[in-house]
Amino acid sequence: MRTICLGGTTTVSAGNGVRCLEEELRLLGIDLRDEFVAAEKKLGVRCLPDSFFGNGTKRIMTAAEQLGLKVDKMPKFIDPAKCNKDGRCTSGCPEGAKWTARRFVQDAERAGARIKTGLPVDEVVVRNGAVNGVSCGGRFFQDDTVVLSAGALETPRLLNRLGIPTTPLFVDSFITLGGILKGIGFNKEVPMNAIIKCADFILAPHFSTQLLAEMQKHGLNADSSDILGIIIKIKDDAVGEVTEKVVKGVTNRDAAILSEGAAIAGAILKEAGVAPYTFVTTPLRGAHPGGTAKIGVVVDKNMETEVHGLYVADASVLPSAPGAPPILTIVALAKYVSRLIAL
Ligand SMILES: Cc1cc2nc3c(=O)[nH]c(=O)nc-3n(C[C@H](O)[C@H](O)[C@H](O)COP(=O)(O)OP(=O)(O)OC[C@H]3O[C@@H](n4cnc5c(N)ncnc54)[C@H](O)[C@@H]3O)c2cc1C
Repeated sequence: MRTICLGGTTTVSAGNGVRCLEEELRLLGIDLRDEFVAAEKKLGVRCLPDSFFGNGTKRIMTAAEQLGLKVDKMPKFIDPAKCNKDGRCTSGCPEGAKWTARRFVQDAERAGARIKTGLPVDEVVVRNGAVNGVSCGGRFFQDDTVVLSAGALETPRLLNRLGIPTTPLFVDSFITLGGILKGIGFNKEVPMNAIIKCADFILAPHFSTQLLAEMQKHGLNADSSDILGIIIKIKDDAVGEVTEKVVKGVTNRDAAILSEGAAIAGAILKEAGVAPYTFVTTPLRGAHPGGTAKIGVVVDKNMETEVHGLYVADASVLPSAPGAPPILTIVALAKYVSRLIAL
């Protein structure tokens, strides 16, 4: 899953702002401590007040604690003063309560940048081993510094066109397990407002309209307001490939981790009052494509490719699947690379 528009996939995020891969990046010589602090401040990361936790979320949190699991509130980049708690974060918050990358675009405009939309880059132009600009549908924009940030599905395509080999894709594969709890109204709650962190996966309260479709297929009588669900999101193996097509399989290890997560999620839902015979899952999906221009392989620790002046600053550079929301880490990395370029 990804979103093609100004602001990219942040437009449809759930507003989760957590640090991930901090240690892995430090081991690669990239210390993001200052950038994380700056990013958290800029995005306004904080946990929402108690009044933003609906009945469904509270039931899941209590049930998980009763089973001996550690449950934390999810840090969010959502302004509680603007949020109307209607659960529409992932449809693009109509209240503008959630941070999106459009705010950086607006900052850049205020600083004098001109933003061109509707002009996808189709080629990076290189002369004598150094970057010279980009071409977009017959138009050429010259510069000796180019930062690719087209996401982990498009950045590798642009690199491949230059003959630069790319690295395998991960997506943080996930399913949502849900069941019926009549009248709970969970579909209108702030999504993923709590987190249970396990070694290779996370669990979080999550509603999906696809659960309703699955229930209808199984002849279960429910509407959207009757469903309680938990997302199981794993650090999956990087075995995907991006060419003209995107191909991403599931390894035996991925399947085992998903099964473990689903078993725990099922136990929590049962404890929360959901009858197991109503359990259904969504199809397998992935919302965090990354890893296709991995640090240490495709880019160096300054995020520069083998082409002088050509940098990458998006999820492509991540060294491994985070199994957790990556936006804060991508923003921190972007701050890091922009500081290096400005030197
Ligand atoms: C439903 C959903 C909810 C999510 N919720 C969260 C969350 O709560 N917290 C979190 O941390 N993560 C979340 N994620 C994941 C997160 O949004 C992504 O991992 C992150 O936005 C990836 O950033 P990126 O810069 O790599 O790519 P993107 O955000 O996808 O940005 C790529 C940009 O490049 C543009 N582009 C593509 N091709 C070209 C081209 N050829 N020329 C010019 N421009 C181009 C696109 O239009 C887009 O603007 C969620 C994802 C989904 C799908």
